[in-house]
Amino acid sequence: MHDLPCRKNPETFHTNTEKARAAARKACAGCSARPDCLRTAIDNDERFGIWGGLDPDERWQLGHKDGTWIDTRGVVRLPCGTDEALKRHRGLKETCPACIEADRRRRLDAEHALPGGGSASGAHLHRALTEVPCGPCRAAHAAASQMGRSPRRGVAA
Ligand code: SF4
Ligand SMILES: [Zn+2]
Ligand SMILES: [Zn+2]
Repeated sequence: MHDLPCRKNPETFHTNTEKARAAARKACAGCSARPDCLRTAIDNDERFGIWGGLDPDERWQLGHKDGTWIDTRGVVRLPCGTDEALKRHRGLKETCPACIEADRRRRLDAEHALPGGGSASGAHLHRALTEVPCGPCRAAHAAASQMGRSPRRGVAA
């Protein structure tokens, strides 16, 4: 066991660079312990390093088909586009354009479900989504602007 490549050079197997990963994968490819090693890493939920020739996310994907994945910190991540995924990004102080767009789309759907079929907020959401506002949203926005407008000052003679 002591002549296993990962025993001789453990750092290569736990360094997060493409070069180190490639070297570790190559070493694993020729290792007789590979099948057992991979099984053990999966059973132990190893979240770091190359084991059995696979990185943490590749090992995770073997047993999870729900869109979840493992990031470089070993954290289980949710597929983008859901409310939960957006909250998770915020907790990790990340900006994810896909989740932000999905959130705007959900909020716009809620505005469209209102009795008038749209709202002033909806008009802003359309624009944030780089769309021309729909008729009901445009009308609601125009009405809100009209109500909020200060009375016209008299023109000085
Ligand atoms: S397959 Fe496992 S035991 Fe063999 S070199 Fe890779 S990490 Fe080490
Ligand atoms: Zn996301
Ligand atoms: Zn609209």
